[in-house]
Amino acid sequence: MRQRGRSRKKNRRGKNGLYLAVLAAGAVAVGAGGAVWADTAFQEPGDVIEASLAQESGGEQTGESLSGEESVSAAAEESVSAAAGESASAAAEESTKAAEENSESAESGSGEESASGEEVKPGIFRSEREFSTDYVYGEFSAIHTGKAAFYDNRQENRKGITVCVNAGHGCSGGETKKTYCHPDKTPKVTSGTTAAGAVKSSAISSGMTFSDGTPEAEVTLRMALILRDRLLEEGYSVLMVRETEDSQLDNVARTVMANNLADCHIALHWDSTASDKGVFFMSVPSAASYRSMEPVASHWEDHNRLGKALVDGLKGQGAKVFGNGEMEMDLTQTSFSTVPSVDIELGDKASDHGEETLRRLADGLTDGVNQFFGTV
Ligand SMILES: [Zn+2]
Repeated sequence: MRQRGRSRKKNRRGKNGLYLAVLAAGAVAVGAGGAVWADTAFQEPGDVIEASLAQESGGEQTGESLSGEESVSAAAEESVSAAAGESASAAAEESTKAAEENSESAESGSGEESASGEEVKPGIFRSEREFSTDYVYGEFSAIHTGKAAFYDNRQENRKGITVCVNAGHGCSGGETKKTYCHPDKTPKVTSGTTAAGAVKSSAISSGMTFSDGTPEAEVTLRMALILRDRLLEEGYSVLMVRETEDSQLDNVARTVMANNLADCHIALHWDSTASDKGVFFMSVPSAASYRSMEPVASHWEDHNRLGKALVDGLKGQGAKVFGNGEMEMDLTQTSFSTVPSVDIELGDKASDHGEETLRRLADGLTDGVNQFFGTV
């Protein structure tokens, strides 16, 4: 359905090249969107993205002022950067695409893109995305009236890659609704929150409570907001399937939104043990029946590869790793994912979850994402 292929991403990256020129040409428009950052729960003064940044720029800049000359120079830049990092034929392809984008721009300007969100900081555009029942596997979701927030990164260092950040839990009423564990309605192969053998599980659970009394859902949200800002700083676009206390999107809804709007999906969790056991990811169960079921069969290797990269990145930032860094688990998230998708456990009830620790974890996760996409 609305699956995104490599070619579409290439096109998107090419189009972004034009915005580089727009941004370089002068100040950028400041919308009421700046308030999004200031109002966000748990936002700290030291955060990477500050509302004040938005206020520093004055005046307005529209697509009309983008001259042909600047378009050409943006195209040349794309070509040069492609030549440096990719093969000659890839460079030629980028160059051709950039030229095509320029001709598109000449015909239509950038009006089409200007409606895609509020500029919440220079080069970062936020828009809300609704769940669609047309999404593949969408009919398996029980709760999907909530909206996701899409942060379109058009900054100079943009990578043209979207990461879905999923602040685990935080969906009131999710415990009482049930959804199928697998798209083919077969029973679960491992025991977790729901026992092996079950055909249905809670649409989304409420999560554990840390030893100090803090709800897991509160910490996963703080973590998600820090990670969002860190990934945007790094040049990624970000899809937030929850960025307030409650998001009326269950596990299936979050997963299919990531399938359609992002290039990978990272769900943030802390485990329910109380031994401060360290970080690990939920890997795809080795049960043959599970790995042969679609969409798992086509994607399980990518899920595990992303999980390993994230644990590597966290380890590189000094995080303690539990065992070999993975635990097999049959999760809704994996069962319905068509993009690389991982439930990462960042510790447990006894683990420190202070600001400094969360920032280090965000650095580690970002390192892992970079490693996975090969951008470092
Ligand atoms: Zn959790």
